[in-house]
Order: sequence, then C-alpha cells, then structure tokens
Amino acid sequence: MTTDLAELLGTLRAFAIPMRTKFRGITVREGALIHGPAGWGEFSPFAEYGPAESARWLASAIESATVPWPAPLRDSVPVNVTVPAVGPDRAYEIVAASGCRTAKVKVAEPGQAEVEDVERVEAVRDALDATGADGRIRVDANGAWSVEQAARVLRELDRYGLEYAEQPCATLGELASLRRLIDIPIAADESIRKAEDPLRVRAAGAADIVMVKVQPLGGVRAALRVAEACGLPVVVSSAVDTSVGLAAGVALAAALPGLRHACGLATMSLLTGDVTAHPLHETGGELPVRRPAVDEDALARFETDPESWRRRALAAAQYLTDVQGTEPVP
Ligand SMILES: [Mg+2]
Repeated sequence: MTTDLAELLGTLRAFAIPMRTKFRGITVREGALIHGPAGWGEFSPFAEYGPAESARWLASAIESATVPWPAPLRDSVPVNVTVPAVGPDRAYEIVAASGCRTAKVKVAEPGQAEVEDVERVEAVRDALDATGADGRIRVDANGAWSVEQAARVLRELDRYGLEYAEQPCATLGELASLRRLIDIPIAADESIRKAEDPLRVRAAGAADIVMVKVQPLGGVRAALRVAEACGLPVVVSSAVDTSVGLAAGVALAAALPGLRHACGLATMSLLTGDVTAHPLHETGGELPVRRPAVDEDALARFETDPESWRRRALAAAQYLTDVQGTEPVP
C-alpha cells in the first residue's frame, strides 16, 4: 500500500442513510466517502461483497478522489423515475410527481403475484400518458424469472409498451434463450459486474443493451472502456449511491459519445437524505452535470463509525492490482 492510499483512507467517513422503500433487499444504504485532490469519492459496495469484488468499488472511489473526470460532452443527462414494487395507486403517484418521461418499474418481487406487476405497469402507463405520448417504460426483474415465465409475463406487460426488460432471467444462457423467443429488447444488469462481462454478454447473444455502473466497474474511465469494448447501447445506472457516487455516474453519462437511453441515476429519492447540501435530484427528467461536495452538517445526520469501512477498504486494497484497467494510485 502506498502512503497516498493510506492518506486517502485517513480521510474516510462512513454513512448509513435509511431508505424510503426497501430496495434490493436493504432498508439502510451504508457506505464510505474518501477525499483527495480531485474531490470526494464514494466507496459503498453492498454488504455481501468480499474484498476482491469490493476492490473495483474502491478503485472507483480512488479515481473520483484523485483524478479529474473526462470532459463532459453535455451539460445534463436524461434520467428515469424508479417505481419500486408498490401498489398501482402509489406507482401512479410516483410517476405523476416526477418530471421523467421514462419510468423503470420493478417487477417479479418475491412474494408478489404476476397480476401485481401487470397492475403496476398499467398504472405507470396511465400516469405517463396523462402528460404526453412519449413516455417509455422499462421493467426490471432482477433475474427472478424462468425463461418461460419471462416470455409469458413480458408479452403481457408489453401491452403497455416496453422500452426493454432488464435482467428478466438470471443466467446468460437463459437471457439468450428468451431473446430468441420475444421481440422486446433485453438489458443485462446483474450479468455486468466485471470489465469482461459485456463482451461475454455480447458473445452469448444474451442482450441488446447493457447496464453500466461506475462503482462495480472500477470507475468512470473503466466504465467508458467497457461501454466502448462491448459495442452495445448502454444505460448508465447508480448503485443507489449518495450524490457523491451519483456525480460519478453523471460524469460517465456526460462523457459517453452516444447516450440513447435515459439513465438510472435519479435514485436520490430512494434515500431519506444525502451527504451533500445540494443533492443530485432530477428536475424535468434531467440531472445536471455537476459535482456536489460533502457537507459536514448533512453528513452529520447520517455519519457512523468509520472503522469497519476502513477495514473493508484496506482488505479491498489488497486486490487493487487485480482490478482490470485501474491506474496505479498516484
Ligand atoms: Mg437492475
């Protein structure tokens, strides 16, 4: 470990922010922030990730803290509103209250019936159509369906018009089989965790679109390389980050040569607060390309003991050299 990394980890602050709705099985978003010459970086791998996997998340935080991001090609990026696995009335309200023309709807929630997905998507379509004809709906099943179930439910949901279906099934083989059965575009999300994954997705004929997230891919530059190498349209998404992590996602979306789809970066509303004084909330379906700094008063509301996060970062740092495409710490 270099002295500079030790210095960076010396700036580490930890946070735990309650979520408004259970998302991805968690009710509190926890993570850490580091500060360096270029600004703040977020290190918030989910609890189940070990040191080797967390190393990419750490590489991303180090990049954000130490090197300026690539020059932006646009000054705002379109985003989708996210609709959790709520009832149809709440789903309608969420979409109606947002300025977004694209809605991402969670489906296949464990314990829920297929009809609940249909009612939720129908309500979302109604809410979008109430304000214009250009509304887009994407659904995310988080890999929960079998091929047969995915084909059946997606055909039904497509009555309301689907932009694409995100990770309808768990494996690449299933996605490829499903893709031969239906015309709805398929996006790979959970299948994309490492820099080489998009190439595998493409080789398997498993998806039309790939989701890219800055932290799991090891930083803005690493994610740009992944997007370029895979040659498929990408959707830039967050890992339900604070505004510090979201800003890195915005930087990626702003630097992509082509940006065909709304980004999944309007996730600030899933959290009950933020670590910055000017959170990256969407307005009019867009996020501005800017970089809010950590605010001491804002952080104070959610700050936790940094020791366990420092240990996680140190453990992850042992694997930093294995992270493909990561520049050495300056
Ligand atoms: Mg997803």
